[in-house]
Amino acid sequence: MLNERVLVLNRLWQAVNICTARRAVVLLYCGHASVVDEKDGDYRTFEYNAWREYSMSNANGQECLHSLRFKILLPKVVLLAHYDKVPIKEIKLTRQNIYQRDRNTCQYCGKTFDRKDLNLDHIIPRDIGGTTTWTNLVCSCCECNARKGNRTPKQAGMHLVQKPKKPRWTPLSAYNLESDTHHSWKKFIDVSHWNVDFGDEEE
Ligand SMILES: [Zn+2]
Repeated sequence: MLNERVLVLNRLWQAVNICTARRAVVLLYCGHASVVDEKDGDYRTFEYNAWREYSMSNANGQECLHSLRFKILLPKVVLLAHYDKVPIKEIKLTRQNIYQRDRNTCQYCGKTFDRKDLNLDHIIPRDIGGTTTWTNLVCSCCECNARKGNRTPKQAGMHLVQKPKKPRWTPLSAYNLESDTHHSWKKFIDVSHWNVDFGDEEE
């Protein structure tokens, strides 16, 4: 239960991380974070003592951390008291991440394959100066790969189904949000995607 995941917001209410409930309770106890709790669409924040009191009267049947003297509700979202950045990280350029970006879909014929039946294709071949970068690599099936050979798409008379882009990292890139988003995270995740997508030029 202490390994339950908690969404971490920075001081500006942007999602920046996911931590365990154990870590969240420590942050709360040390005064580095407060709990964000939603009730009927209102978001309220609680520091440690206030959250303990709130837990006493609202803990019916919900997940609590019990100690000898009291119980405390496990937070789902915490707000950091001091940190106001969004960490800037990159998604690593790897074969698996390119497959992931292209959703296991051959970028020439548009069909989906098992990863074992896919290749990486340098759009502009390396021999003529093509780079190993997000924008020059796509996933392709064996058939399209063989057909294209060591040529540019134009030379081979082939077309990309979409222009490859470098994916943007978000604090939640590593998580499968569709399967395990807490309802209470949703608002902040949407907000954070927005911020990361459009706001990171300001740095
Ligand atoms: Zn193909």
